Amino acid sequence: MNANRIIKYSLIVFFSLYASNTFAQNVPIEPCGYKYEIEKIIQQKPNFISQQNAWYAQAYQMYSELKSAKRRIIADTEFYEIPVVFHVIYNTAAQNISTALILSQLNELNLDFRKLNADTSRIRSVFKPLASDVHIQFKLATQDPNGNPTTGINRVSTSTTTFATNIYGSYSDDMKNTAAGGQTAWNPARYMNVWICNMEYPNYVGITYGFATPPTGSPNWSQFQSVTKDSTDPKSGVVLHYKVVGKNNPLAPANYKEGNTATHEFGHYFGLRHIWGDAANLSLGCSVDDGIFDTPNAKDKNYSCNPNLNSCTDPTNDKPDMTENYMDYALDGCAAMFTREQAFMMRYVLNNFRTGLPLRNIVFDTIMEYPNPIVTISPNPVKSGNDLNITININDDNAIFISSLIDNNGKLVVKRSIKANEKTILLTSPYAAGVYYLIVSDINGRIINKQKIILSY
Ligand SMILES: [Zn+2]
Repeated sequence: MNANRIIKYSLIVFFSLYASNTFAQNVPIEPCGYKYEIEKIIQQKPNFISQQNAWYAQAYQMYSELKSAKRRIIADTEFYEIPVVFHVIYNTAAQNISTALILSQLNELNLDFRKLNADTSRIRSVFKPLASDVHIQFKLATQDPNGNPTTGINRVSTSTTTFATNIYGSYSDDMKNTAAGGQTAWNPARYMNVWICNMEYPNYVGITYGFATPPTGSPNWSQFQSVTKDSTDPKSGVVLHYKVVGKNNPLAPANYKEGNTATHEFGHYFGLRHIWGDAANLSLGCSVDDGIFDTPNAKDKNYSCNPNLNSCTDPTNDKPDMTENYMDYALDGCAAMFTREQAFMMRYVLNNFRTGLPLRNIVFDTIMEYPNPIVTISPNPVKSGNDLNITININDDNAIFISSLIDNNGKLVVKRSIKANEKTILLTSPYAAGVYYLIVSDINGRIINKQKIILSY
């Protein structure tokens, strides 16, 4: 990872060219539909990539501050539980996959995201210290959007024989639309929707095994308000071909038996790019990055676990290609990890883009690291045209704190890191008038201050 400006420029050029030349032909060429999904967003929102780069930069800044504080990151003491609904859209009995398979997939996801997977033994020693618990886990939804009990598995019979639209693996979004033979999403702000359906075209030469919608339109960034929030987009979610769902699916093709396709697509849903950065062609491969600093540069996707692969020379401390990463394509036999920064990025997405989704389980520890910091928050109430000034005075300029603005329903509105002894301005204009709570905690999760804040415009 280097030369950030060049990287961003390359991405913009690449996606522009790609969008104008290839989108029209409607020809996916890879088992994951990520590039195709990005192209579709760019058709609607031409500046999407620059916006995505901007929130990557913001997330990285926050990550760096926390890391340089040399203390544990707050998320080490909390995890997020995501309610998931699996819509099984079936035309044949085989497509109506068993509950046991779906549960095995859910289990694999939870093992992978909590770094409890046994196959971490695959990770080479050079990458072992980077493998990270994402602190996100998944559970089947227990209540449907009408408040009725549900198993979290919604089986829908369809007359549609396939959702692929050509032999190259192009596909429609009809699985996400009840009127078109699929199932319209359950409220995407409250549920993670996963559609399981047939993605095979007769006599196909290419197939999309899965795709995910990346996060768009952070509600906290006023400069991005022109972008549709995906929390209200009924297409928000993950689609999986029924043969790659679950552990040891008897219909799974070779190299897709471990349930890692879902882990890969969930990674996209939480904002991750492919580990090689999706360059337009191989000549750009080593200069287009995934925006994550602790993944080595890679020129292109890898389908193989060959430990000698090293497609790019990293600027410092050159490492081989990280085929162990879930965001590469060598899934079965290799994939076993997300990195620390990827994990942070996914939590950042939950805290900034998909704030209605997670149920938080916060385990506060009792480390008393600081001698009574003085927290000053003003003005309060906040009147129109004013913003909130937060200062935390403590005898340690390197200390980092976290401020969380919570609304009156207990929902997280915005989360910011705060450096000690510096005034931090929290813009309040994006938020409606009302009663809020500002909770300040240290990076060990210990709450050091909680105040009621009134926004009165
Ligand atoms: Zn992908």
